[in-house]
Amino acid sequence: MTHPIQKTDAQWFAELQAKGAEPVAYEVTRHAATERPFTGKYEQHWADGSYHCVCCGAKLFNSGTKFDAGCGWPSFYQAVPGAITNIIDKSHHMVRTENVCTQCGAHLGHVFEDGPQPTGLRYCMNSASLEFHDPASAAGENAKFEDSADSAGQTDADSGN
Ligand SMILES: [Zn+2]
Repeated sequence: MTHPIQKTDAQWFAELQAKGAEPVAYEVTRHAATERPFTGKYEQHWADGSYHCVCCGAKLFNSGTKFDAGCGWPSFYQAVPGAITNIIDKSHHMVRTENVCTQCGAHLGHVFEDGPQPTGLRYCMNSASLEFHDPASAAGENAKFEDSADSAGQTDADSGN
């Protein structure tokens, strides 16, 4: 499996340190470790915005698809199309579906089929793999949008059926 963004472990380690990622972020994203439940900074984080790969910044989830699964990790029922690649994971004597970032291969978590509608999926993510961007900071990706977007056009994500 190859991903568009390829760096060595040493490079990822240095980059994550430089951006102030959580200490466990390197072990989680590059060596598929799992943070302890109910410890992640996004487990009970409900602000509007988007969740990105902590390694490469690729957008993975919108906050409108986050839900409280009660499992101790941030959970989403839908990923941004194409942002996440599924891998069959047979470690720990289980068969699970591992999720990695399509762009850089960072380990994110696992997806299970016991989530809410409309997808029935539960993307069970490590907070340490994620980086939250609020709508204002998303202006960096789509510059010059923030000035006119204060009141109009911000309800689309949640009000649809
Ligand atoms: Zn990534």
